[in-house]
Amino acid sequence: MTTTPEPRSDAPLTAPGEILHVGAADYPGLDEWRSLPLRQQPDWHGHADFDSAYAELSAHPPLVFAGEVDKLKRRLAKVANGEAFLLQGGDCAETFDGVSADRISAKIKTILQMAVVLTYGASLPVVKMGRMAGQYAKPRSSDVETRDGVTLPTFRGEIVNGFAFTEESRMPDPKRMVAAYHKSAATLNLVRAFTEGGFADLRAVQQWNKGFMANPAHARYEQLAGEIDRAVRFMEACGADFEGLKRTEFYAAHEALLLDYERALTRIDSRTGKPYVTSGHFVWIGERTRELDGAHMDYLSRVQNPVGVKLGPSTTPETVLEIIEKLDPEREPGRLTFIVRMGAANVREKLPPLVKAVRDSGAKVVWVTDPMHGNTITADNGYKTRRFDDILDEVRGFFEVHRELGTYPGGLHVEMTGDDVAECLGGSDVVDESAFDQGYESLVDPRLNHKQSLELAFLVAESLTQ
Ligand code: PEP
Ligand code: MN
Repeated sequence: MTTTPEPRSDAPLTAPGEILHVGAADYPGLDEWRSLPLRQQPDWHGHADFDSAYAELSAHPPLVFAGEVDKLKRRLAKVANGEAFLLQGGDCAETFDGVSADRISAKIKTILQMAVVLTYGASLPVVKMGRMAGQYAKPRSSDVETRDGVTLPTFRGEIVNGFAFTEESRMPDPKRMVAAYHKSAATLNLVRAFTEGGFADLRAVQQWNKGFMANPAHARYEQLAGEIDRAVRFMEACGADFEGLKRTEFYAAHEALLLDYERALTRIDSRTGKPYVTSGHFVWIGERTRELDGAHMDYLSRVQNPVGVKLGPSTTPETVLEIIEKLDPEREPGRLTFIVRMGAANVREKLPPLVKAVRDSGAKVVWVTDPMHGNTITADNGYKTRRFDDILDEVRGFFEVHRELGTYPGGLHVEMTGDDVAECLGGSDVVDESAFDQGYESLVDPRLNHKQSLELAFLVAESLTQ
């Protein structure tokens, strides 16, 4: 008797040969969102270039394939079951200039380094995902920005307008959607090359971690790093299949905020006849656009991708159950991820009722902590920042809540970069406010730098092994 083995969790992403029909013109219900409350969009439908940009995008090949998306859903089903851990990381907002080999490889490298540490800490496979190759649209608290008496449209991410505070740059430009598509394609090309071409070799990743350990500020992680090192050498001595371990799966995720872009990149899978968002494998709905009867919720309820929903401190248990009903009526394993961003001060009090309600309803979701968005403060010198200690405290609170309720803390979602920026305060190799003038690069939210990201992974791994 032959059985088909379950694909290995580290098996490479292959682009299966399925054909995705161009467009999804008449798919029933797919355009329902157009008649629903739609927040956080540019007002550009009357723009002379809108129709041609939309048509161009609609005719372009998918950036990701339905078979890959389905595979990710199977991976996330394992996370929901407590058999794997999810790591999501990347910029708050990608920039077109940030699409360079150096920056992308540094980011992937950092995520792979974090993943190795977390794999050891959790003794479980880690599903790796970048806020990458499409994270270009940003929700904002105001539609306009005023400086020195001049009022212009707010910056909504480079897929919509420019950051420079001039009238020309701030005017929404639909052609930017096409530019974002090409930047995403270039990013994905590098992601696929790096993660399938030997760059992800476990031994190399462990070597990079040794570089981190060489910094005396990180001496306290020596023991854990030494244990990981021994584990890798042990595997090598046992003749582990390092050819297989040279590759890894790496998925692309972004906030599905700009629905014109998502709709134009939706394709019908010829195998199943169902719609997939092909702008990324995993998409999420942000805290500001997750209203139940809104356009974003409706649109993502109609596509097959695994989806996330951000949950802030005002979320009620009733809302959470309604979201499950709306986005995952079939209770499909791996379909729904809740990304909780309560703030360190709230998580221990506000999260338990939500987790309890889901647990008691029998639904299975992935619970992920985003310890960034509930901990944003303004530094004395005016920069938007976050304290490393608050970030860590929220992660710990998230784990405590799940431990007490007997549920599974499935993952970590962070805003980070592989570069040596100074945007978040603290860490063992301390960043303080005086470094911001030189080292602050983010156009929107502050990110953990390379060292802070890795340190967070070590601290999470430490608490997992205790
Ligand atoms: C984000 O992830 O950058 C974001 C805007 O998050 P949230 O929707 O949780 O505020
Ligand atoms: Mn952000």
